[in-house]
Amino acid sequence: MTDWIEQTEDMVYKGRIKVPYTWWVGETGSHFFTTLRDEKKLLGTYCAKCDMVFIPPRKNCGRCFNQDLTWKEVADEGTLVTYTVPAYEADIHPIKPPFAYGIIKLDGADTGLTHIVTGFGDGQLKAGLRVKAVFKEDRDGHILDIRHFQPV
Ligand SMILES: [Zn+2]
Repeated sequence: MTDWIEQTEDMVYKGRIKVPYTWWVGETGSHFFTTLRDEKKLLGTYCAKCDMVFIPPRKNCGRCFNQDLTWKEVADEGTLVTYTVPAYEADIHPIKPPFAYGIIKLDGADTGLTHIVTGFGDGQLKAGLRVKAVFKEDRDGHILDIRHFQPV
């Protein structure tokens, strides 16, 4: 009965599902995004027990589980920790190459923020590169209110 299965070529098709959805970013995320939108400021949360500033902000400290974190503004400039460069253009990328996805340790933060890095020259992109946020003029409370980071 199952011999036809063994003789059948496996067929695999690619598909694409587009599912519109909304989700609540939480109290912490809402405060972060409205401050980014309205004041063009980047807020992290500070754990006094660990002496660490987290950005993106966290409601609770993931290291010591402290629930009493306070807000702390961090700079819109920092150091590129690591990056990857998309090799091709695709709908999933927010912009067309050339650009990099980077993890940026903003001055005043102890964790990295993942974002787009662009505007770099040949051979310029490397860990340790100083970068600065470029904000959109019309912000709407989204991480892409920071258009990208670019070399200082
Ligand atoms: Zn902590």
